[in-house]
Amino acid sequence: MKKIYLYGNWKMHMNKAETEKFFIDFKPAYEIYKNDPDLEVGVFAPFTSLWAAAEGAKNNGVIFGAENVYFEPKGAFTGEVSIPMLQEIGVTHIILGHSERRHIFNEPDDMIAKKVKAVLDANIIPVLCYGETLDERESGKTFEVMTRQLKSAISNLKPEEVRKIIYAYEPVWAIGTGKSATSEQAQEVCEWSRNLIADPKVVILYGGSVKGSNAKELLSMKDIDGALVGGASLKPDTFLEIYKAYKN
Ligand code: PEP
Repeated sequence: MKKIYLYGNWKMHMNKAETEKFFIDFKPAYEIYKNDPDLEVGVFAPFTSLWAAAEGAKNNGVIFGAENVYFEPKGAFTGEVSIPMLQEIGVTHIILGHSERRHIFNEPDDMIAKKVKAVLDANIIPVLCYGETLDERESGKTFEVMTRQLKSAISNLKPEEVRKIIYAYEPVWAIGTGKSATSEQAQEVCEWSRNLIADPKVVILYGGSVKGSNAKELLSMKDIDGALVGGASLKPDTFLEIYKAYKN
């Protein structure tokens, strides 16, 4: 069986108390999967909940990370958080280029590329999101857009850096909409991405309305190594149900 990455993106949900409660409920639910070598669980929390997430993650042997970071180590960047600040908490992974960062906050490709490089230089794993909007898909631009997003992020990196990144294909039209890509659509893009990245060993996740009911189909696809999960990651049972459904 392949290793499955089950990563939860909490977005702007889960304050400190909710994070602590999540891990209290998570502990007994996770007991049966805890020693499963084929599963890697990660939780990506808002900045203010990261200390609580660090504690909960340590107690459960799971990974935790941030949802964004700025690439400069310090300075006059009001409202931003640096990589050394996140290292102080013990963050090992950081989501970069999420579609909500790209589309709501207008983060351009070159800024995302700088973040990817700075995160790699700090020995932290970037979880690099990319994907097309509905308009782009319907006008036949899916692969053109993703080529731009991926190439701008990785073309100046060394092969070993490219391999360290965890890639997350997230079609924008499937995020938070309840409308997942079909397993064939997701597989097509993940296989294409693996070829573009030109490294058969890279980890590629699919994200976009993954839940228990569609997990088996999606996660069984050859080029999908796991899921980046938004809504269903906010509760331990709906989150872990994704892996349970895949295994059954
Ligand atoms: C996401 O936020 O990365 C995501 C995939 O959200 P959802 O699972 O809610 O579609």
